[in-house]
Amino acid sequence: MTRPEEPGRQHAGHMTPEEFREHGKRVVDWIADYLVDVEKCPVRSPARPGEVRSALPAHAPERGADFDAVLADMERIVLPGITHWQHPNFFAYFPANASGPAILGDLLSAGLGVQGMVWATSPACTELETVVVDWLAELLGLPGHFRTDGAGGGVIQDSASSAVLVALLAALHRVRKRTGSAPRPVRYTMYVSGQTHSSVERAGRICGVGTDNVRIVDVDPNTLAMDPRQLERLISADIAAGAVPVFVCATIGTTSTTAIDPVRAIGEICRSHDVWLHVDAAYAGVAAICPEMRWINDGVAEYADSYASNAHKWLLTNFDCGLLWVADRQPLIGALSALPEYLRNTASESGEVIDYRDWQVPLGRRFRALKLWSVIRWYGAEGLRAHIRAGIAMADEFAALVSADPNFEVLDPHHFGLVCFRPLWTETDPERADELTMRLMESLNDSGDMFLSHTKVRGRVVLRMAIGAPATGMSHVRAAWSRIRAVRSQFA
Ligand SMILES: *Cc1c(COP(=O)(O)O)cnc(C)c1O
Repeated sequence: MTRPEEPGRQHAGHMTPEEFREHGKRVVDWIADYLVDVEKCPVRSPARPGEVRSALPAHAPERGADFDAVLADMERIVLPGITHWQHPNFFAYFPANASGPAILGDLLSAGLGVQGMVWATSPACTELETVVVDWLAELLGLPGHFRTDGAGGGVIQDSASSAVLVALLAALHRVRKRTGSAPRPVRYTMYVSGQTHSSVERAGRICGVGTDNVRIVDVDPNTLAMDPRQLERLISADIAAGAVPVFVCATIGTTSTTAIDPVRAIGEICRSHDVWLHVDAAYAGVAAICPEMRWINDGVAEYADSYASNAHKWLLTNFDCGLLWVADRQPLIGALSALPEYLRNTASESGEVIDYRDWQVPLGRRFRALKLWSVIRWYGAEGLRAHIRAGIAMADEFAALVSADPNFEVLDPHHFGLVCFRPLWTETDPERADELTMRLMESLNDSGDMFLSHTKVRGRVVLRMAIGAPATGMSHVRAAWSRIRAVRSQFA
């Protein structure tokens, strides 16, 4: 093919729109085939450390190659090193849902190649995001002040980890404004439970609060929910010792077992001490799209200063799409605005124009709203609810199967798609019994038929069966249960 005599194009060898069309169709076909065939792959990659790397050249190629060569290497080198998160028997971690409309929405975003740091760099990138986060706030039954036409607003972050980081920055900004310039260095404290996600303690380290000032509140040994009385005691003791309590993270659906902290009781304590309440509902929050699940957010409307949930776990939107809502956007913008006070842009603060770079750590931002918009429009609220309900129903049915077997025990309650359970052994030594449980899990995972994970509850190993991939049906869940029973009987 002869290309026009334009220096840049000729020397660089850019893919022409015609070439893109041809290869692009092949890539879409490749993805569609993958989604059909994924069930035939071992769920967990059997690759050993270094295997993928050693199959790749040590040096970058000097000359470009045809795109077909990339696809060939995808099959030969990359796929064997993939753990198939979209496999119907992927039960190990909370799902990372991918869906057709999300993949296509992301492709459109890549096609536009927009960098949406401020409104002016692509008005639609900002305004579509505003619309979809407001839509979702409404669909989840979140309070009106989390909407952009209220005092707060929502924003798409890369992850729940970034969401808690910016929430903490906003909380620190708010408390500094309140206390003014302190005569001596202030020691800030923050509060999590032993079940809180590790990203919260990391946010404390990143913000300079420091691990020593991250208080770990006890949990109720039965429910694994944060004990509000212990929270109150720790906050009071810290105040008495001259510290400034700044931030509490309550979790709706902990990573380990989907335990739910008592947000209302925690919120009352936060309110009385003027402490920021962040609610981390990274996995479970999206379940509130079903009205019968709205109870999980009890206390959020009255007390939460910020609320995070990921569309990229259970809501059919490809990673990354972490949602963060704040009740009041001023502390967030105050903490992160790139402009000094005297250059504040009144348009942003009036709510006329939003510059989302002031709502996140990096300056640059992808057009993530496109994939979420595409998902919401394709499925409608109805389809999204059906997906969540299917996950919960399958988890309920799995739990019923497990509890009906005297050789297994289910940890109740399970409100979402995660069921924690453990095999019971004749072995009476708890440590040796836990070893057997781990060996059972490794054996199942090594088989490639399914992928489970584990956690520790009250000192004992339990297995985690997280249901919620779009490809998973009850037949997969039943087959997985048969495999688990069969392998256990080999061990007993
Ligand atoms: C998954 C999870 C996170 C972390 O989410 P990322 O988006 O991966 O940062 C935080 N909190 C809870 C409760 C989670 O389940």
